[in-house]
Amino acid sequence: MFRLEDIIRPNVKALTPYASARDEFKGSEGIFLDANENPFGSVAGDSMNRYPDPLQWKLKKEIAGWKGVKEDQIFLGNGSDEVLDLLIRAFCEPKIQHILITPPTYGVYAVYAAVNDVPVKKVQLNEDFSLDAGKVLAAIDDSTRLVFICSPNNPTGNIIPLEATRRIAENFNGIVVVDEAYADFAETPSAISLLNEYPNIFVVQTFSKAWGMAALRLGMGFASREIVQVLNKIKPPYNINAITQQLGWKALQNQSAKDSWVAEIRTERKRLMDALPSIPCITHVYPSDANFILVKTTGAAALYRYLTDKQIIVRNRASEPGCSECLRLTVGTPSENNTLLEALRSYPSNPSKN
Ligand SMILES: *Cc1c(COP(=O)(O)O)cnc(C)c1O
Repeated sequence: MFRLEDIIRPNVKALTPYASARDEFKGSEGIFLDANENPFGSVAGDSMNRYPDPLQWKLKKEIAGWKGVKEDQIFLGNGSDEVLDLLIRAFCEPKIQHILITPPTYGVYAVYAAVNDVPVKKVQLNEDFSLDAGKVLAAIDDSTRLVFICSPNNPTGNIIPLEATRRIAENFNGIVVVDEAYADFAETPSAISLLNEYPNIFVVQTFSKAWGMAALRLGMGFASREIVQVLNKIKPPYNINAITQQLGWKALQNQSAKDSWVAEIRTERKRLMDALPSIPCITHVYPSDANFILVKTTGAAALYRYLTDKQIIVRNRASEPGCSECLRLTVGTPSENNTLLEALRSYPSNPSKN
């Protein structure tokens, strides 16, 4: 049975978190002589002299309404990458407990595990990039703390059905982390819909992709209040800066702008999906629920160089398991996609090998 108490690292459990000045006093009126700030103002502009809200309540209120969760079920990170790192740090004892990932998948999981000296167990996806929940469960043991499921999966683009997440969560004493960075581009329901049923699911989303806010670094975690409290305890006190909190809030007042971009990206994705299969250097086009398409090519390294020479930068994923000769193409604007398609069409069928 899952018991959160059993999987929190002892040092985290014992920790008294840093109480920042703004944690202790919540009012906004008064003479603030508590945080050693500049009382006159900010050289950088309005109100930037004050430390931001450590728990970002104003922004969380908006997100809670949008996602249909409670404010205290939300954890915000400096990019969702920070959320992933904090999960590993909170629940995996270095060298002893491990995470489980399902390659080919997002590279950051293994990098943050390595930074934290946490071993990584791998269960490869099937050839069609579907996930075998039985295989994952068979690989789980007493020292497995986190299972990472990426859906839609990066770099393959496919959804991992909620059914697999459910089955793993049901039979696992650790936490299933469902990374939904590309959820906005998919039409299937989010794993957030499972949170009330499963105390050991943690959903990650981001403002970096569909919202077009990658530079601001704003990632979201959704889970039980108890799990969120553990992360709050260990996070850097002011991990979300004031500009990001303000612009995040502002963006949520204008969701339709995001929605229309998402619609256009989906339309362009479809156009690329239809056009790519007839291009000679493309040997397979994988289905995608994300804003990118994985393609198998006649030779990834040579094609990648050819495109780069034309100043078209794509991602070479050929070294990922199950992805030999594969490139990942982000869906661009209509004219960018046209340029890409033209370049691919004019790729010589027998490029010089060098
Ligand atoms: C892009 C991406 C992220 C995002 O990260 P941020 O730190 O929020 O920019 C997370 N997970 C996956 C799978 C991604 O592809």
